[in-house]
Amino acid sequence: MKEQEHKVLKEERDRRKRVQHIRTGIITVISVWMILSIVITCILCAKVISLQKQINIMTGSYDQSASVDQQVNQSSGEDTADVVLGQPTTAEDNRASEGDLHKVYLTFDDGPSEHTNEILDILDDYGIKATFFVVGKEDEASLAAYQRIVDEGHTIAMHSYSHKYSDIYSSLDAFQTDLERIQNLIYDTTGVECRYYRFPGGSSNKVSNTDMSAYISYLNAQGITYYDWNVSSGDATTQAFTADELVENVMADVVKYKTSIVLLHDSTAKTTTVQALPAMIEALQQSGAVILPIDEDTTVIQHVCIQQ
Ligand code: ZN
Repeated sequence: MKEQEHKVLKEERDRRKRVQHIRTGIITVISVWMILSIVITCILCAKVISLQKQINIMTGSYDQSASVDQQVNQSSGEDTADVVLGQPTTAEDNRASEGDLHKVYLTFDDGPSEHTNEILDILDDYGIKATFFVVGKEDEASLAAYQRIVDEGHTIAMHSYSHKYSDIYSSLDAFQTDLERIQNLIYDTTGVECRYYRFPGGSSNKVSNTDMSAYISYLNAQGITYYDWNVSSGDATTQAFTADELVENVMADVVKYKTSIVLLHDSTAKTTTVQALPAMIEALQQSGAVILPIDEDTTVIQHVCIQQ
């Protein structure tokens, strides 16, 4: 009888142990699953934020209002220590008062494209010169476009060869290689030694939290002046502005400044920019503004510059 009781007790103990094991197992699985879910969610959130940043930069729709308020430095481009955001006082220097002449520089990024010839035709119709911040393309039509830009008296300027943020901003070496590539392509095609640059995304770009100081110092040391912009047409933002709205966007800002560097795009997708161009030029001319290509006398507009 005692033996029987003992056996029952032992079985009970074993059963409890098994239940305990199963319970521990279930809790462990649930805990691991929860921790994994949290980790995966965090990783995905970080990824989404970083991709969103890149999309915004690529479409030019990052917070331009903040940078516009802070921007406009007039830097002679000496390379020294820290990178600083533009001081409002220098923005003040560029603020137009009653009777000031408005100098407007139309700048086209990302070309050559299918629209380059149309843009050049329109500029020719109105007898005005602009600035083209070009990227590297080596097909016949693009090479002809570089040459036409130069032949017709516009300023050809660099906007990187690849326009790939992940490459250009990965290291100073990569930046230098890319810069030399576009510099050589323009020189070999047109004979022009290009002295002007626009950083893809601007000097205030927030791609991968890139510290731009090394690239800025390098350009300064090469005697290459980089230009950002203080007037955005909005043709690269996520909002699909109509041609009329692009004109309105430009006119609303141009009145504020003595020197306006207007951001426009020469890219196949930007049909509205081409449509807006004649009305934009007419509105600028009617307002008394003078439209010029960037040259060595142009006031330098930079979002981020090296403190002198
Ligand atoms: Zn660009």
